[in-house]
Amino acid sequence: MDSKDFREAAISSIDEIINYFDNLGDRDVVSTVEPGYLRKLLPSEAPDDGEPWTNIQRDIEAKIMPGITHWQHPGFHAFFPCATSYPSILGELYSAALSGACFNWICSPAVTELETIVLDWLAKLLGLPECFLSTGPTRGGGVIQGSASEAVLTAMVAARDKYLIETIDSNLEGEAREDVVAHKRSRMVALATNMTHSSTKKAAIILGVRFKTIAVNAADNYALTESVLATTLADCRALGLEPFFLTATLGTTDTCAVDDFAGIASALDSYNKEEGPGGGEIWVHVDAAYAGAALVCPEVQAATNISLINRFHSFDMNMHKWLLTNFDASCLFVRNRNWFVQALSVNQAVYGNSASDGGLVTDYREWQIPLGRRFRSLKIWFVLRSYGRDGLREYIRRTTKLGEEFAGWMRERKDLFEVLTGPSFALTVFRMAASPKEADKEEGEPAVEDQRNAMTKKLCDEVNRSGRMWVTSTILDGRFAIRFMTGVRRTEKEHVEAAFRLLVEAAEEIMNE
Ligand code: PLP
Repeated sequence: MDSKDFREAAISSIDEIINYFDNLGDRDVVSTVEPGYLRKLLPSEAPDDGEPWTNIQRDIEAKIMPGITHWQHPGFHAFFPCATSYPSILGELYSAALSGACFNWICSPAVTELETIVLDWLAKLLGLPECFLSTGPTRGGGVIQGSASEAVLTAMVAARDKYLIETIDSNLEGEAREDVVAHKRSRMVALATNMTHSSTKKAAIILGVRFKTIAVNAADNYALTESVLATTLADCRALGLEPFFLTATLGTTDTCAVDDFAGIASALDSYNKEEGPGGGEIWVHVDAAYAGAALVCPEVQAATNISLINRFHSFDMNMHKWLLTNFDASCLFVRNRNWFVQALSVNQAVYGNSASDGGLVTDYREWQIPLGRRFRSLKIWFVLRSYGRDGLREYIRRTTKLGEEFAGWMRERKDLFEVLTGPSFALTVFRMAASPKEADKEEGEPAVEDQRNAMTKKLCDEVNRSGRMWVTSTILDGRFAIRFMTGVRRTEKEHVEAAFRLLVEAAEEIMNE
C-alpha cells in the first residue's frame, strides 16, 4: 500500500466508521454468532499474494461485524461503558503513525513529556490532592497503564518493596537479608473487600503474597467502613500477619459503592499507634476505575471526600471507561514516584543513555511492568482539548441524570421491581418484586428468595434476547440482581425509556405466569 492507496483506503474506512456510528442503533447490541463462527469463514492460511484493500474492507461488514458486541450502542447497559469518541480515534491514528517503543525519555521526548503534562491536567480536573501532581511537593505524578488490573499490580509491587525497605534492618546484606525477606513475605497480606474488583486478588496471586477478603454488607451499602477495617486489622495482628496493602474503591463493580475514606484513614491511624508485628505502613490504593471519571464534577469531588486521599498512596481511574477515550487509558497516580522506581528499575546496558544517566528525565519504563509503551497521551490530550472541562462535566451529568430517572421509574413500579442499590454513578441494581402469591410470606425465606432469583434471571434473559438492549447481572447476598448502567455516550432519554418499557412488559408477563 503506497501513499495514494493509503489516502483512498483511509477515506473509505473513515466513511465506513462514521456510517457505523450513525446507524448503530439499528443493529442488535449483542453478537449472536456461535462459538467458532469465524474459522468457518476464513481461509486456514494467510494469502500468498497481497490483496487489494477493497477486498479486505469488505470482510469487516461481512465477517467481523456479525461477531461484534456493540459497546457504543445506545442500548448497551451492561458492565460499565468502554468509551470512544472521534478525538480519541484521531489520537490513536497519530499514535499508530508515530509507532515506537517509547520506554525511555530519549525514545521520543514528546511521548514522555506530554504524558506527564496531560496527567497533571487530569489530576487537577479530578480534584486530586496536589501530592499526586508531578509538580507537587512529594515527587508524585501520573503514568498511563493498559488497565486498572495492571495499575493495581504495579502499585502492589511498589507497596511490597516499600514495606520491606521500611521494616527490614538496612544493615542486613546478602543471604542473611534474603532469609529475612523470604520470612517477611510469607507473613505479608494484601487486603480488599468482597466488593473489590478481582484484580486486587489477581495481583496478590501474581506476587505470591497472602490475600484476605474483608466482608462488607448491605447494612453499610456494601462499602468498607472504619469499624469493619479495624476488626480485620486486629484479626491479622492476632494471627501474626502483616497487612501491607489495601484497595479502597470509589465505585465498586457490583453496585458502585464508595468506601469510607475518612473511616479508612482513621482505622489505619489507630492501627499504626499500637505495638505489633510489622511496623511498616499499609499502602492504600484507590481503585476508581469507572466512577473516577465523575470526579470531573466538583459536586462529586465534595461528595466522595476525594481531598482525603492525600493520606493514601496511589489512585487509578480508566479514562477508557466513562471519559470518552478509547481503550486503553488507565491513569495511575502515585504520591511519590520513587516508590515505583525503587521497585521497578532494573538496568540493562542496552537501555543506557546520557539523558537517563543525567537523572533529569522521567523514564516511564521504571513506573510500569512492560518495557515498551505506546503514545497513549495523545488521545487523552485530544479528548481533554476537544471537549474541555465543561464538555466532560456536561456529559457525566447528563448520563448520571439518566440513571436517576431510570431508578425513579423503577421505584414507581414497586409491584414489579425492587431497587437494591443506587442509582450510583449512573448504575442502578434491581430485582423483581415478590409475586403476589408470595408477597405475604416472610422476606428472606429460601423458597421465596429462590423464586425471585429465578424470576429476575428470566427477566434478564428475556430483555437481552430482544437484541434491543443488554444488561448484565450480579449476586448480592444470595440475591440475583440486574445491573442497569446509563453511561454510554449515545444513550439518550428515549433509549432509557424504551429499555424501561421493555423491562416492564417482560416483568408483567413473568409476574402473570
Ligand atoms: N476496578 C474496577 C472497580 C472495575 O470495575 C474494573 C472493571 O470493570 C476493574 C478494576 C478492572 O478494569 P481493567 O479492565 O481496566 O483491568
